[in-house]
Amino acid sequence: MELIASFSVDHTKIVPGIFVSREDNVGDSMVTTYDIRVTRPNREPAIDVAAMHTLEHIIATFLRNDTDWKDDIIYWGPMGCLTGFYLILKGNRSPKDIYGLILKAFESVKSAESVPGATPENCGHYLMHNLEMAKWYAAKFANYLISNSENDEIFLYPKTERLIMDDNQKFYDS
Ligand SMILES: [Zn+2]
Repeated sequence: MELIASFSVDHTKIVPGIFVSREDNVGDSMVTTYDIRVTRPNREPAIDVAAMHTLEHIIATFLRNDTDWKDDIIYWGPMGCLTGFYLILKGNRSPKDIYGLILKAFESVKSAESVPGATPENCGHYLMHNLEMAKWYAAKFANYLISNSENDEIFLYPKTERLIMDDNQKFYDS
């Protein structure tokens, strides 16, 4: 069941942060998709694609091994626009409830000595990684989360009416 069908996000007003993208009932359970927005869309450079790929590997590995959270992690992956990540979790926690997890995940990048799974057996483009740049983006975002922890803007998306295209299809980016 779709709970937030008629509104989408106004990308001109987004700041980096942790946001609910959608909530769905799957069988008897709730599943929540979060946007983990790392850069400000169309206002600052998107994340370097190799660094994005490295952040995908390191943080997915972190989340799926975290003993407190791993059973609730359904999916972690990059946005096509390279401004952030999608996280899908079991349950319907608020963005503030996962603040600690996201902060821990991005802080974990600092201590990575190599990129997990950067081999031809484990990855579809194993040469396209950049660990040092991934650390730079991760540290920047972690510092941002810390200094904005009391700022509600980083937890609540600015909404706009969903785009209807000429052929009457509704627009979705995920
Ligand atoms: Zn890969």
